[in-house]
Amino acid sequence: MGPIRIAVVGMGKIAHDQHLPAIAGNPAFTLAATVSRSDSGVDGVPHFHTLQALVDSDVAIDAVALCTPPQARYDLAALALDKGLHVFLEKPPGATLAEVDALVAHAAKAGTTLFASWHSRYAAGVASARAWLADRQITGVKVIWREDVRVWHPGQAWIWEPGGLGVFDPGINALSIITHILPDPFFLAEATLEVPENRAAPIAADLHFRDSRGTAIHMDLDWRQTGPQSWDIVVETADGTLRLANGGAVLTLPGETLRHDDHEYPGLYARFADLVAQGQSDVDTRPLTLVADAFLRGKRLVTDAFFD
Ligand code: NAP
Repeated sequence: MGPIRIAVVGMGKIAHDQHLPAIAGNPAFTLAATVSRSDSGVDGVPHFHTLQALVDSDVAIDAVALCTPPQARYDLAALALDKGLHVFLEKPPGATLAEVDALVAHAAKAGTTLFASWHSRYAAGVASARAWLADRQITGVKVIWREDVRVWHPGQAWIWEPGGLGVFDPGINALSIITHILPDPFFLAEATLEVPENRAAPIAADLHFRDSRGTAIHMDLDWRQTGPQSWDIVVETADGTLRLANGGAVLTLPGETLRHDDHEYPGLYARFADLVAQGQSDVDTRPLTLVADAFLRGKRLVTDAFFD
């Protein structure tokens, strides 16, 4: 079998920064097409303005990587599955949980692979953190995810719209890590969401979870952080403190600090190739469930208007 002929759909920041290099660096894939209304694509690779135009053309593809905002994800994924294509979903896998469930059923019926990717789970320190925590007694967890929205999401109108998640767009990355490394299930106890008076999605959130043993997990999300940025997870255990910094890239355990090179997107594409080879899907909706619960259970406070 030759390489998987993949089309990248939604040629924005993440497609250019991460997907194109990861595809180019993995011999299991070949970039067969790009789809975007405004981007001009990649030299020598067929480019289309819509996915419909691509599937109606004579360009052969086996898979799509959907790198659009989440609000556009379902219709594109459903079209791709209808055509028997394997589907790589950027995070979050959809704008609602039920639409992701519908895609899971659709992929099973089509006999193709559906992969809901969570790139932060492939950050360098995460696998070792998970292994270290597996049989430890956890006494408390703190997540501090504070960044400057003007630096990381300049002019991204979709992120402030319903389904765009606001500060949970980065916050769901932290949730994807802690749902992966903490051994016990956990759930929301209470939350406060701060929503700018001129926007539909929160700019900050304070979340209190607890796990099935009663351990407290506190999460502090804020998009108004200027100066140094924080993407840190601190887990207190009976054997000392585990700290994951830089979004999961740097792991500190009692007595040692481990740093590795970034391999998030190469790791995701290796996983997608394995899933396709094995005829399997991988769709874990727990991070999106926790976000949905924050919108369901959280108290909303209106705060100052936000302008880019
Ligand atoms: P972006 O820069 O705004 O790019 C999104 C692209 O999707 C646009 O270039 C746009 O291209 C296309 N698109 C298709 N339908 C659209 C619609 N209805 N509204 C707006 N754009 C639409 O966004 P991004 O930062 O790459 O993020 C895309 C996804 O990747 C999000 O789910 C995000 O959470 C995830 N992600 C982002 C990052 C990051 O660092 N930025 C990191 C990891 C994951 P055309 O208008 O040309 O069609």
